[in-house]
Amino acid sequence: MNRVYNFSAGPSMLPLPVLEKAASELVNYGESGMSVMEMSHRSPVYDAIIKNAEAKLRELMNIPDNYKVLFLQGGASTQFSAVPLNLIGRTGKADYIVSGQFSGKAFKEAQKMGYDVKCIATSKDTNFDRIPTVTKDMIRGDTAYLHICFNNTIYGTKYPEIPDTGDVPLVADMSSCIISEPVDVSKFGVIYAGAQKNMAPAGLTVVIVRDDLLEYCDPKAPTMLEWKTMAENGSMYNTPPCYPIYIAGLVYEWILGIGGLEEMKRRNVEKAELLYNYLDSQSYYIAPVLKSSRSMMNVTFVTGDAELDSKFAKDASKAGLVNLKGHRSVGGMRASIYNAMPKEGVAALVKFMDEFAKANPKA
Ligand SMILES: *Cc1c(COP(=O)(O)O)cnc(C)c1O
Repeated sequence: MNRVYNFSAGPSMLPLPVLEKAASELVNYGESGMSVMEMSHRSPVYDAIIKNAEAKLRELMNIPDNYKVLFLQGGASTQFSAVPLNLIGRTGKADYIVSGQFSGKAFKEAQKMGYDVKCIATSKDTNFDRIPTVTKDMIRGDTAYLHICFNNTIYGTKYPEIPDTGDVPLVADMSSCIISEPVDVSKFGVIYAGAQKNMAPAGLTVVIVRDDLLEYCDPKAPTMLEWKTMAENGSMYNTPPCYPIYIAGLVYEWILGIGGLEEMKRRNVEKAELLYNYLDSQSYYIAPVLKSSRSMMNVTFVTGDAELDSKFAKDASKAGLVNLKGHRSVGGMRASIYNAMPKEGVAALVKFMDEFAKANPKA
């Protein structure tokens, strides 16, 4: 069977050249005589792999020197606990914006610890079809940080710009948009992301943290969740997710090779426009997200008829366009068009959508 166009929200497509390179090195990496999967994480050859991955990510995202890059395990969801544990000590309070399911989970996790946590804005009452408007005066002046989810994977929304928090550190879950376009890292206190959307196979979580924010960890925090301990040990306090880190390094090199994040953005904008322009040009499908909040990575749409939605996903699969079913909590369809999705995949989807609409008129 040929490779399909995989619109999965995560784990998701990886760039074919990366998979091919990994395959060519699978059983014998360089001169090592073994697979990366079989190596000691303390060996010189693996040390070069993790250092290269970090260096390439720093180059790609233009990460300032006063930020640490951590390669961790536990997924973005573990960071929902790690963020309050590491930062609450700054002032004892934390503010959150709830713009979807993951930011809601992050908020609940901080609440669960009994800290003074406040949701300062939410778009729940419009079923998360937009990013809530936030002005600086809504943020508590003495909050330890403001937490946001920069791209809402399930609903298909994204912050149109980075909120201005003044001196308050901004913490962003960027699991589903990291390295899709350039971002000014210096505007954030912390950026974190599960790797399985845009960077690597599942098992790796990347945390980028400004080094002055490493000093506030709750002394009761589990050692494994202390960013400072992980930073001081070069992400090797324990065994890191060795193989996903190696793949992440290859993915960073692939993006640098095509021209970096400016070129990545150009390609992603082109793909997203192809799909949104089609959605805006017809009336069979409805795109529920407010235009100003649209995500470039996750595009949601519905027919308005649950049976047609379900038929759509099934028929699309048969045509080699897989994983288009929306998240189980919202239904409809979702096309995740991360970095590795080629333009041809999106063009094939648009063509399929048009044919499906003609072949399946609404009652
Ligand atoms: C997928 C996702 C998560 C959950 O990630 P895990 O690695 O499964 O814990 C959290 N936040 C966002 C924005 C996501 O897209």
